[in-house]
Amino acid sequence: MQIVLKDFTKTFDGNTVIDRMNLTVRDGEMLALLGPSGCGKSTTLFAICGIHRVNGGQILFGERDVSNMPSQQRNVGVVFQNYALYPHMSVFDNIAFPLKVRNDSKADIARDVRTIAELTHIAELLGRRPGQLSGGQQQRVALARALVRKPDVLLLDEPLANLDAKLRLEMRSEIRRIQLETGITAILVTHDQVEAMSMCDRIAIMKGGQILQIDAPKDMYHNPRTSFVAGFLGNPP
Ligand code: ADP
Ligand code: MG
Repeated sequence: MQIVLKDFTKTFDGNTVIDRMNLTVRDGEMLALLGPSGCGKSTTLFAICGIHRVNGGQILFGERDVSNMPSQQRNVGVVFQNYALYPHMSVFDNIAFPLKVRNDSKADIARDVRTIAELTHIAELLGRRPGQLSGGQQQRVALARALVRKPDVLLLDEPLANLDAKLRLEMRSEIRRIQLETGITAILVTHDQVEAMSMCDRIAIMKGGQILQIDAPKDMYHNPRTSFVAGFLGNPP
């Protein structure tokens, strides 16, 4: 589903952190929000998922204006760096949780958990507890839990930040594979330019609450419009 931010504005205690941002995330694409720490990436993601209220502008999911809709009523899947699994529940129950909240039948839950567990390659781990899993496996469970309700958009906030270098490489391609196989619209927040370039269809470079440039990775790398963008991509003029 296409996601549109129209003049999105966010203030904290009178401080404008995002000032009239416009952004279109195309249906089925994976878009990176890339920029240095504090530039407003997470704030943008939190507004899209409904954790933060907007102070101005609109957020559209397709034709639907969700700006004033509580988080539970927006059909979003989220994987955040610190969005932990429930440690006392099995992997199955962790993934099933969003479906139980929705009162799905037991048979539907069993079928949907199995399908998403196969897609994320954790079908043999459903009986375990999160504490009995590696970091990469836990991340797969978090992805499965985020995707099991077939959300309109998948929001990923620095999802690989807590993984070691080898796992990070593996999970980059796994997250991309899962996004392509499901065809879900996804937004990846990261400060890592290699992650953004290797995983995403397009990159939006942010600085100080503004989007400086939005382009496919290659186009941006070869035609950066500002020296900031060039420097950030490691290709200084
Ligand atoms: P990023 O994710 O790009 O590192 P954030 O979106 O977290 O940046 O933060 C953008 C700016 O908004 C920062 O200056 C940060 O201090 C400020 N900010 C974020 N959340 C809050 C909050 N809850 N209260 C006050 N200021 C905040
Ligand atoms: Mg952040």
